[in-house]
Amino acid sequence: MSYTDCHIHLAQTTGWEPLAGTIFPVCASAYTIQDYEKTEQITSRYNTEQKKVCLSFGIHPQITEDNLLDFLNGLLKENRLDAVGEIGFDFYKKEDEANADTQEYFWNEQLALAVNYKKPVIIHCRKALPKLFTYTDKMKNLPAVVFHSWNGSLTEADSMLKKGINAYFSIGKQVLNGNKKVIEAAAMLPVERLLTETDAPYQTLKNETQTTAADVMKVCKKIAELRHTDEEELTDSVYWNFCSAFSISGIRS
Ligand SMILES: [Zn+2]
Repeated sequence: MSYTDCHIHLAQTTGWEPLAGTIFPVCASAYTIQDYEKTEQITSRYNTEQKKVCLSFGIHPQITEDNLLDFLNGLLKENRLDAVGEIGFDFYKKEDEANADTQEYFWNEQLALAVNYKKPVIIHCRKALPKLFTYTDKMKNLPAVVFHSWNGSLTEADSMLKKGINAYFSIGKQVLNGNKKVIEAAAMLPVERLLTETDAPYQTLKNETQTTAADVMKVCKKIAELRHTDEEELTDSVYWNFCSAFSISGIRS
């Protein structure tokens, strides 16, 4: 059995490379120039015969630096990215709300770039779904929208789809954490809209110091249990969803 991970930070994660034959394709996201360069080196080692690593760069809502916009623009111009992200809004802490205008500026700039270069977007959203719903008309113009670590309700997911967005909802480690909304989404979302992720090394559960690449196996096992489906059938569907979301050709039989 093999697994896919649509959101992992390979520059900071050890432990994916020994599993590269089991966990692929993955989408590796970077949010600093240094991490991007490290991640690009990894892709060049692993994308020789087939695409095992998709590459994504985006200005994270909590790390808004002007020079990164030029950097992102350059990468897109040179066609070095498979996706833009993670981008979005983070209003988890009170102090993040004070920064709302800056977050919105970077979101708008990056959304426009993704539309222009026809790239899928990976969305980071904490306590900010109402804000995202004000952008559904623009998000409709993207080839695909991947909601990383989806933690909205089933109704909210459905309404994104009804608004005509080619949305994929990625289930991460919160499904292992008793999070009711995530559990419901993992159990009930249409299978063709599901993706899986770790966000490694982040998204640790209680008593963990880091998330490892291998944790995607636990996530898939749990989703299969919740859906009363065979795990291999599930990982297979998720694989094809990944290929559609990132516009890569599937090679698994
Ligand atoms: Zn992340």
